[in-house]
Amino acid sequence: MLQLILILAALGQLPTLLAQKQQWRPAPSSTASVNPQQQRPLLIDDEVHFNQTLNSILVPRVVGSQGHQQVLQFLVQSLTNLGFQTELDEFRQRVPVLGELQFTNVIGYINPTAQNFLTLACHYDSKYFPNDPNFVGATDSAVPCAILLNTAKTLQPFLKKQFLNRSDLGLMLVFFDGEEAFKDWTNADSVYGARHLASKLAKTRSVLSGTNQSIRNIDRIEVLVLLDLIGAPNAKFSSFHQNTHGLHTSLVQIEQSLRKAGQLQGNGKMFLSLPSGGQVDDDHRPFLEENVPVLHLIATPFPDVWHTPKDNAEHLHWPSIRNFVKVFRSFVYQYIRLHTEPVNLRYQRG
Ligand SMILES: [Zn+2]
Repeated sequence: MLQLILILAALGQLPTLLAQKQQWRPAPSSTASVNPQQQRPLLIDDEVHFNQTLNSILVPRVVGSQGHQQVLQFLVQSLTNLGFQTELDEFRQRVPVLGELQFTNVIGYINPTAQNFLTLACHYDSKYFPNDPNFVGATDSAVPCAILLNTAKTLQPFLKKQFLNRSDLGLMLVFFDGEEAFKDWTNADSVYGARHLASKLAKTRSVLSGTNQSIRNIDRIEVLVLLDLIGAPNAKFSSFHQNTHGLHTSLVQIEQSLRKAGQLQGNGKMFLSLPSGGQVDDDHRPFLEENVPVLHLIATPFPDVWHTPKDNAEHLHWPSIRNFVKVFRSFVYQYIRLHTEPVNLRYQRG
């Protein structure tokens, strides 16, 4: 999976895409979790849940395998238990090497009729290696899947209360299927699930409640936050997309605040404030093509264990995972809490 495409200076060379309309950035004073004295129960870790969740996902789960079916059922059950309305996006497709396979994207909604969505995503399939049937893809992407479910779990009381009486925003969790290439990474042999879901959301429309306005479902995604390759030591997360740079900056600020408050382990900075100057191909590709704003949280350089048998539980770096979980939870909390009007980060056609 995932070629690193270095598009040097590319961000400045997209003549049809102009700067963002609006930048979203929470005021530093509103960082809810900086003061341990004021820390609310909803921002407290639940490592038991995290470990149990990760254990359930950390099995070989190549599309079409028994482990894949098992993890798919686990995701649906977990989302249901957490109060999400779940939806399966199923399709069959012929792929290199393995032939025709059944793919299933898993989508969980809170507040499914909301005008717009904060969308958090990762892929749950593991890569097929003919010589390594035991490959479990711990960083790729079992840990990101566990992070999404754990975020929903630890924020559950807040989410329940928040979404009781609002129509501006909903939360959407997406577990993409078939991100990995079966042979060599190309546009055709990769991101099978993401391509199917993006196309489906672009073709279907919803009428927003209280209006006569019908909009494409894909245009209801305010931002697609895509997690990938998380769990190795010294991970660095750069800002890859100009229109979500403000959101990335808020992650930098949250990390700073939590570190200052003594809530993070170690001193290595995770979120880098400078734009990366390139992009990494991943599940967001078909969404970018539909002008969906993307916040890509992927470690670059890739973990040393990437696509090797060592990408397993034994090589995970727990302080890094704990730090990421804390920053990410606080980010999701703030996005929802501070959201008062639609956030339009889409590139405006000039
Ligand atoms: Zn991979």
